[in-house]
Amino acid sequence: MKKFGVLTVLTIICIILIFCFRGVFSTHSNEAKTNNIDVTESSQQVSITDKIYKSAPVINNNELQKKDTTNKMSSETASNSTIETSSEAKQVHNKTKAEVTAKATDNNKDSTVSEEKKPSNKNESTILTKNVDRKIDPKKPMVALTFDDGPHYKYTKNILNSLKKYNAVATFFVLGDRAEKNKDIIKCMAENGNQIGNHTYDHKYLTKLSTTEINNEINKTSDIIYNITNIRPSVLRPTYGAVNDNVKLNTNVPLILWSVDTRDWQSRDEKSVVNKALKNVKDGEIILMHDIYKSTASAADVIIKELTSKGYQLVTVDELFHAKEVKLVKGTVYSHAY
Ligand code: ZN
Repeated sequence: MKKFGVLTVLTIICIILIFCFRGVFSTHSNEAKTNNIDVTESSQQVSITDKIYKSAPVINNNELQKKDTTNKMSSETASNSTIETSSEAKQVHNKTKAEVTAKATDNNKDSTVSEEKKPSNKNESTILTKNVDRKIDPKKPMVALTFDDGPHYKYTKNILNSLKKYNAVATFFVLGDRAEKNKDIIKCMAENGNQIGNHTYDHKYLTKLSTTEINNEINKTSDIIYNITNIRPSVLRPTYGAVNDNVKLNTNVPLILWSVDTRDWQSRDEKSVVNKALKNVKDGEIILMHDIYKSTASAADVIIKELTSKGYQLVTVDELFHAKEVKLVKGTVYSHAY
């Protein structure tokens, strides 16, 4: 009976021990699971904390999530902004390209212009506008185109544009009363390197005027041109080409006539003017036209193009005589430089 009692006690102890061990193992495995979770969470927390640290202090996870989302959104917005920016940049780039192309086209049409390109091109265009880059070769043929009776508000502008297109210049013998009504055109003429000559104030016959009247016609016009351009005309074309001793004695500049008469005022025909200007043209010629006719303006464009392609340099009257080493004398008549 005593033995039976001992066995029972031992059995109970064994059972207790078995339960105890099971409990320990179970606890260990739970700890391991917990640890695993903790590790994972802590790594998440680390990454989140890292984000918080990098962005802004945030208190709880919800806020963290919100913050994270905000970050993502702002990141996307930023990304979109970047896209927009680059899109704008592209647009700006395209715009710039378009402007440059437009300016290049403009330059082809009319070699004025084109200020806002690259700095190097800016200089180039400035030079081109002012025709400073024109170099006259005295050994090559040259012709002086001359236009009388203007300026005309429209046709003179057309002629100025044609000249600029081919980097050429001409001499405009203007009337004082027209010059004071078209100051901008006079200014443009001078700025583009053209010469402005005196053609009296209101186109009277100088040969029919008194000395005082001659002086008045010439000086009044000369003052008007000087006030607009700061350049006093250095040449005079007497109206109708009419000259006598009184006119010669009372002018303090050379008298410039012509060697080629296009008779544009008579024909008012583009083809006729072109033919008369180009037929038998030679080095040192002075060609007479009038910039107050539409037909002359369109003819001038052809004449300038043709003479340029034939190798003629289109120069002013002063440039022509200077290149030919002819010193102009006041009160003396000149019709050509050959
Ligand atoms: Zn005239």
